[in-house]
Amino acid sequence: MQTSPLQDKYGRVATDLRVSLTDRCNLRCTYCMPAEGLDWLPDSSVLTDDEVVRLIRVGVGLLGIRAVRFTGGEPLVRRGLTDIIRRTREVGPDLELSITTNGLGLARTAQALAQAGLNRVNVSLDSIRAETFSDITRRNRLHDVVAGLEAARAAGLGPVKINAVLLRGTNDDQASELLAWCAERGYELRFIEQMPLDAQHGWSRSQMITADEILERLERDFVLTAAVDPRGSAPAELFLVDGGPATVGIIAAVTRPFCGDCDRVRLTADGQVRNCLFAREESDLRTAMRRGATDDDLAERWVIAMRGKRAGHGIDDPTFLQPDRPMSAIGG
Ligand code: SAM
Ligand code: SF4
Repeated sequence: MQTSPLQDKYGRVATDLRVSLTDRCNLRCTYCMPAEGLDWLPDSSVLTDDEVVRLIRVGVGLLGIRAVRFTGGEPLVRRGLTDIIRRTREVGPDLELSITTNGLGLARTAQALAQAGLNRVNVSLDSIRAETFSDITRRNRLHDVVAGLEAARAAGLGPVKINAVLLRGTNDDQASELLAWCAERGYELRFIEQMPLDAQHGWSRSQMITADEILERLERDFVLTAAVDPRGSAPAELFLVDGGPATVGIIAAVTRPFCGDCDRVRLTADGQVRNCLFAREESDLRTAMRRGATDDDLAERWVIAMRGKRAGHGIDDPTFLQPDRPMSAIGG
């Protein structure tokens, strides 16, 4: 089979692959999962390291994937992570290779990950106050995240980006404090609007902090000017902070959707292709692969899965239904 792009019926082409390596996590962020955790995927249905690398090879070699981001759950709890990164780098010497992580354990692993071929990390951090951090994540581990950030920068995994979600009544008064902290250290902060992807179905449109609110709060303390992002499909609206060089991004998936420019496709830890975070259907590459599908067969299934991508997530549509799987199982 020749290389065929992962194009949907609206003409969007997916070149950015998000690979979830596990649905498990060592934090319990309230907007993501309940305190007791979830019913984790059985080991037998989670892709092996060889299977993950094979599907990435199909994506890169046959389907035009140019960037791979490992996520989860928490990708750093996946035992084979460094080796998966090393093998992915062999598949694509020019691939943009990154992980999204909560940062726990990054202080220990950043150097090895960089040596294996990782380019960048995004670390999730919603507060730099120990108490608020543990209220949100239900674990007292702020110091580990801070150490992880420093190690990532020292290992050359930059620019280090920080993802933050603001929750009404919990950390929504800390936006400026977090931005000042990140700007001082050269970390690029991006605020993400809370999305209806939590396992507990606790999201509500009226409770979420909108992009407008975030900007209004930041503009009390900083002068923000629109900055041009070099990557057209990047979801973050980027602003220079007090004239730069520091920047802040807003990812307003709910109130300012960017579905028309989406270039993503997702692979879950159990080998299902999802053409959107909010997709209601998945395409099962794991079963096909375990039944002996060739690389060309897998590529063909993947192409078909992409064609059905919807025009938008439809969160504001009265008929919107939250996907069956939460963010931690899809791969955020
Ligand atoms: N465990 C890793 C981490 O926290 O970075 C990777 C997976 S996590 C699901 C990926 C990102 O999704 C994190 O930045 C997290 O804050 C964000 N996230 C989780 N649930 C969310 C929700 N309901 N709305 C918006 N972002 C969410
Ligand atoms: Fe874990 Fe990331 Fe979900 Fe927090 S957001 S519980 S760190 S998967």
